[in-house]
Amino acid sequence: MRYSKQREEILKVVKSLNFHPMADDVYKRVQRSMPHISLGTVYRNLNALVDQEELSCVQDGKIVRYDWETGPHHHFRCRKCGTLYNVEIADEDILKFLAEKCEFEVKEVDLEMTGICGECSNGTEE
Ligand SMILES: [Zn+2]
Ligand SMILES: [Zn+2]
Repeated sequence: MRYSKQREEILKVVKSLNFHPMADDVYKRVQRSMPHISLGTVYRNLNALVDQEELSCVQDGKIVRYDWETGPHHHFRCRKCGTLYNVEIADEDILKFLAEKCEFEVKEVDLEMTGICGECSNGTEE
């Protein structure tokens, strides 16, 4: 019982954050309502949630980030604030494009887009 409550809280926290939090970010926020929770517990629950496909995870260099979006999507990284945004682009569309441009049969794409996000471009010259 206790464990499922923690899991629920962890899932709620990840869903409330749209910046692909690391385990540590989740830990700090869950601690507000559950001061006795340990980082290990947060890790275990995050991984269990990924196993249950309630969450997905993104490898960001050496860091693992957690994502409430479990459907197919790609990421846009802001060069200014470093935030990773979800972008819904269908893989089929990309594969169709590549089929015309590429001599190989592409099965999978790992796309990372970078630029300046709306938040950061507000009021700046870039
Ligand atoms: Zn930004
Ligand atoms: Zn994502």
